[in-house]
Amino acid sequence: DPGLYVAATPIGNLADVTFRVVEALKAADLILCEDTRRTAKLCAAYGIETPRAPYHEHNAARVLPGVIEKLKAGARVCLVSDAGTPLISDPGYRLVRAARDAGVTVIPLPGPSAAVAALSVAGAPTDRFLFAGFPPAKAAARRRFFEGLAAIDATLVFYESPARLAESLAAMAAAFGDRPAAVARELTKLHEEVREGRLAALAADYAEAPPKGEIAVVVHPPAQAELRDDSVDVDALLCEALE
Ligand code: SAM
Repeated sequence: DPGLYVAATPIGNLADVTFRVVEALKAADLILCEDTRRTAKLCAAYGIETPRAPYHEHNAARVLPGVIEKLKAGARVCLVSDAGTPLISDPGYRLVRAARDAGVTVIPLPGPSAAVAALSVAGAPTDRFLFAGFPPAKAAARRRFFEGLAAIDATLVFYESPARLAESLAAMAAAFGDRPAAVARELTKLHEEVREGRLAALAADYAEAPPKGEIAVVVHPPAQAELRDDSVDVDALLCEALE
C-alpha cells in the first residue's frame, strides 16, 4: 500500500531486522537513508535493490517537498536511519510531520532501538521511564540539563559518546546524587557489555579506562525516601501558608 513506512533497522547485529522490514524495503519505490552507504550494507545482506536517496538534517528542507509530492502521487517510501528506529535521536520528525499534514498514511515498522534494548537488560525499574537523548556537550548546559531531570520520578535513559561518558556520569552524580545506573555498550555486537554501579564509581572507572563503541546509559529513579523528603517539605510549606 502507498504511504510513508518508518522502518527500524539493526543497532549492530544485522540479524535483528524484521521480516516485515525486509519485505517493505524490497517493495518500496524509494528508501530514504540517513547515510546511503550504511543502508547499502543492510540492502546487500538481504538482496534489496530498491533505489536509495539521502535524507538527513542538512538536506531535509530541500528534499521534503519532492518526497511529499511522490507520496501524494501514491508512492511507497521507506525511511530508515543508520541504526535503530528513525526519529529516536535521529532524522525524520519533519518528514513524518509533513506527511501527516499532507494526509499521507504513515506506517510504523517497529524493531530495534538502543534505548529500549538498554532498558530491557539494565535491571532498573521500567514501569516509568524518560528517554532524554544525548546530553549537551558543554559542561554548563549539561549541568542545567541534568538538574532539570533530577526530580523526575522515573528511570532515565541517555545516549552518550564514549569520549564524554566519564564526565557525563560525574555530572549526573552531582545533579542526581549517587544513584545506581547501568552503562550498556555495543549492544547486539561482539563487545556487548552492561556494567552496573553507582554513578560516581562508574564515572571513576571510565575516566581511568575510557570506553569504546556505542553507549546508552540507564539511571535508576530517585530513591522513594528522597521523594518523600520533598513531599515533607511541601507539606511543611503548605502548613506554614495555612497558619
Ligand atoms: N535511532 C537510534 C535508536 O533507535 O537506537 C539511535 C540513533 S543515535 C544517533 C546513536 C546512539 O544510540 C549512539 O551514539 C549510542 O548512544 C546509541 N546506540 C546505538 N547503537 C547502540 C548499541 N548497539 N549499543 C548501545 N548504544 C547504542
